[in-house]
Amino acid sequence: MQRDTLVFDLIRKELERQRHGIELIASENFTSTQVMQAMGNVMTNKYAEGYPGRRYYGGCEIVDQTEQLAIDRLKQIFNLEYANVQPHSGAQANAAVALAVLQPGDTTLGLDLSMGGHLTHGSPVNYSGKLYNAQFYGVGKEDGRVDYDQLEARAREVKPKLIICGASAYSRDWDYARIRKVADEVGALVMADIAHPAGLIAKKLLNDPFDHCHIVTSTTHKTLRGPRGGIIMMRKDFENPWGHKDPKGNIRMMSSLLDLAVFPGIQGGPLEHVIAAKAIAFGEILSDEYTQYAHQVVKNAQAMAKAFVEKEYQIISGGTDNHLMLIDLRNKNISGKKAEQVLVQADITANKNMVPYDDKSAFVTSGVRFGVAAITTRGMKEEHMQFVVNAIDNVLMNADDAAVINTVRKQVNEFMDQFALYPDWGI
Ligand code: PLP
Repeated sequence: MQRDTLVFDLIRKELERQRHGIELIASENFTSTQVMQAMGNVMTNKYAEGYPGRRYYGGCEIVDQTEQLAIDRLKQIFNLEYANVQPHSGAQANAAVALAVLQPGDTTLGLDLSMGGHLTHGSPVNYSGKLYNAQFYGVGKEDGRVDYDQLEARAREVKPKLIICGASAYSRDWDYARIRKVADEVGALVMADIAHPAGLIAKKLLNDPFDHCHIVTSTTHKTLRGPRGGIIMMRKDFENPWGHKDPKGNIRMMSSLLDLAVFPGIQGGPLEHVIAAKAIAFGEILSDEYTQYAHQVVKNAQAMAKAFVEKEYQIISGGTDNHLMLIDLRNKNISGKKAEQVLVQADITANKNMVPYDDKSAFVTSGVRFGVAAITTRGMKEEHMQFVVNAIDNVLMNADDAAVINTVRKQVNEFMDQFALYPDWGI
């Protein structure tokens, strides 16, 4: 077969784009070379429906071992009784939990998308809002923090079967204990979606959701720095509260319902090459090097937030506990959409984002979200955050001046030369 140079040229261009730019999209990171190598391996050829030791296809002895390794390492990271490493993405992990614990029409209670929640937490354009009666809580208008009083009041009012905590654009830690207390009172299960801060939770830099939330989901490619994918976890397995039985008449454990929900519920064959890459990433997370990385992420986020505040940018909630921050640009007279567009021209990548109580649409927005997980992997430290914030400020304050933006782009490219990215990657 002739080599497809068209596609490989585009891959090489994408590598160059990643090398030259400052990557501030809070949900992105750079995997290690070995994680990436594992994603392009022969296990992509293998069908392995089922789970290690109980598959529907022959020849699974080897992929059983990589999948079991991924499960065991993940259990070790978070001290778990149960882990499923097969979800193809974070959205799939959440869909599987919904399928396992909800019936169509059941009520859920999650953080509103416009306040930082994720599409899969009940948005009307998502299965989670179409199949279920999705209700929401929000953040306070003044302090930008989850309004737990409102959450409790809503829970008592709508009696959800599932309370969902976790977010895509929320810079503060969560009070999981308080959420569990109200869930017990109204008879709900609690699912924490820790897709964003999972790496910081793994290193105990944030509150631990596992003792309070029945089920925890995550992506593997954000702060966890693995391949794109999803995972489902429980610290303690438990009998399903609805009395669903297996064919032998025994009450099913929640782990069994979750496994069935992933396969055959919403997925077919698992991506065993990606699961091999997950196993490698989980091994990396157990290392001291990753522990240092997670601590550096927090230090960088603090330094970046401070630099923005000094330039009178309004960070929602006034700061950050994790790797990201959401900035309300209204006092800077630029929309999130325009900010995203002009930053890209200077090789700085970020995404527009609605801010709580936004008066602009989701296509325009008043905010922009910045995260430091990726630039910390590139090797940046606190002292580099001032350059990054100066560059952003220079672009946003001169958004219609092509010459200034061009100068910043050159400065950015030169600055990034010192942080090698995949130096020996040959394609
Ligand atoms: N959950 C949260 C909180 C997220 O932020 C995201 C992605 O941004 C997801 C789930 C979905 O993950 P994926 O894009 O892998 O489906």
